[in-house]
Amino acid sequence: MKAKNQIKSTDKHIVNLAEIVGGARSILYLKEDLVAYDCDGFTIHKHLPKAVVFPKNTQEVAEVVQYCSENNLPFLARGAGTGLSGGAIPLNGEIIISMVRMKKLISVDLENRRAVVEPGFVNLMLTNSISDKGYYYAPDPSSQYCCTIGGNVAENAGGAHCLKYGVTTNHILGLEVVMPNGEIVEVGKDGIPDAPGYDLLGLITGSEGTLGIVTKITVRILKNPEGKQTVLAYFDRVEDGSQAVSDIISAGIVPAALEMMDKTAIEGVEAAAFPVGHPKDIEAVLLIEVDGIAAGIDEQINQILEVCRKRNVREVRAAKNEEERARWWANRKTGFGAMGAISPDYLVQDGVIPRSKLPEVLSKINQISEEFGLRIANIFHAGDGNLHPLVLFDARIPGESKKALEAGSQCLKVCADVGGTITGEHGVGIEKREEMRFVFSEEEIAAQTDIREVFNPYNFLNAGKLFPSPGRCVEIKKELKAQAKIG
Ligand SMILES: Cc1cc2nc3c(=O)[nH]c(=O)nc-3n(C[C@H](O)[C@H](O)[C@H](O)COP(=O)(O)OP(=O)(O)OC[C@H]3O[C@@H](n4cnc5c(N)ncnc54)[C@H](O)[C@@H]3O)c2cc1C
Repeated sequence: MKAKNQIKSTDKHIVNLAEIVGGARSILYLKEDLVAYDCDGFTIHKHLPKAVVFPKNTQEVAEVVQYCSENNLPFLARGAGTGLSGGAIPLNGEIIISMVRMKKLISVDLENRRAVVEPGFVNLMLTNSISDKGYYYAPDPSSQYCCTIGGNVAENAGGAHCLKYGVTTNHILGLEVVMPNGEIVEVGKDGIPDAPGYDLLGLITGSEGTLGIVTKITVRILKNPEGKQTVLAYFDRVEDGSQAVSDIISAGIVPAALEMMDKTAIEGVEAAAFPVGHPKDIEAVLLIEVDGIAAGIDEQINQILEVCRKRNVREVRAAKNEEERARWWANRKTGFGAMGAISPDYLVQDGVIPRSKLPEVLSKINQISEEFGLRIANIFHAGDGNLHPLVLFDARIPGESKKALEAGSQCLKVCADVGGTITGEHGVGIEKREEMRFVFSEEEIAAQTDIREVFNPYNFLNAGKLFPSPGRCVEIKKELKAQAKIG
């Protein structure tokens, strides 16, 4: 009661929500506090939430959700807010349900190679908590030092090492989910492969917080590889670097990671916090890591060196020691933020293409850059064709944010046109809703919104995300339903 009295708002919903989560210290509702939650890593759109609540456990999440749905209040979940497509932006003045207090490592079961975490548990903390026992958690988004595993599940996050080990969905064994009506359900029979029934785990992973709120996650953990080595290769021509990527994979090597940065990206990372002395005049750098049984590492490294030399590499060498390797990775993994050293603002795009189309697509992205008069840096998971064109712009110049969005959209169109798609790991959110039409027909979009309706019938949970503004798909849905009735 004391905490309730401390609430300065006369809004009954604020008062009631505060009561559910334990009082004034567990809710934000003043404008000056809410501005910190008006966007995520996609900073072009900003909207204030009605309030932010900080539940401590699943029961409190369920009660908040039930309260919101009974009172027609839109709501959404938020992890660390590092999402790059605007998934956690409260477009409709939502109640944000922050997961940051639910950050426990619940259990580790080395024998069965699994761990159970709360959704606010930070990705890298998991590896840090088990590495002394010889284990790690494989999905490693570059934001892993702060993003949450709940957010990773929602976005089906990838990362540099997902080329060999797969993305988040390949490492999720079970979920506890609060449904949009407040019901708590268990999804997935912990760790049992191919359990009977629909693959709801697969459906919820990557659903961008539109089907339910994840409150507990069982993940697969892996044994540390016996050995690993990393190679750095500089190319004078992007085409040679791209061709080396294809050649490495065609040679039958499956690197743990195969990353590429172009000249503009190199300018950024060298001007930022972790420079490693990349030459300023090269067109592309590849970072290639292999891991596995110690005895096989040297042979793979020699093969990679040979492939790079055949593709006119200017310089190629393996890391001298662990310190150098870690430095190379810090240089790469802080690449997005490094753009801040060469541009006031940047927009991260996230398309996927068949690897063989790399030279063609990079040249088209260059054309887009020229056409829009905006520099575009490219940092990407080259091994799996997941591009991140970074459109550099200055939001203070009127109209430039819009231009950056259009240039980003054009980059995605190029990816879709060569047989790729519009997101590899950052999700659709609000950023790429309209671009869904590059890869899905109206009927396919309508079918997907039908699935959302099964879980989230009134669309109070994270509305306005993932799907384009209702266009013809609404009509098509009506037609299909009418036909089904007649049939
Ligand atoms: C510098 C930088 C580098 C990045 N590198 C990568 C990368 O290499 N690979 C990659 O995949 N991504 C990357 N990202 C994007 C981002 O970090 C990931 O999408 C991450 O998974 C988001 O986690 P989060 O905790 O920040 O989630 P948030 O941004 O808070 O939320 C993201 C979405 O998940 C939903 N959500 C959050 N928690 C839950 C929950 N418990 N239940 C249901 N829905 C929930 C939200 O509603 C929202 O729709 C990067 C971002 C930055 C800023």
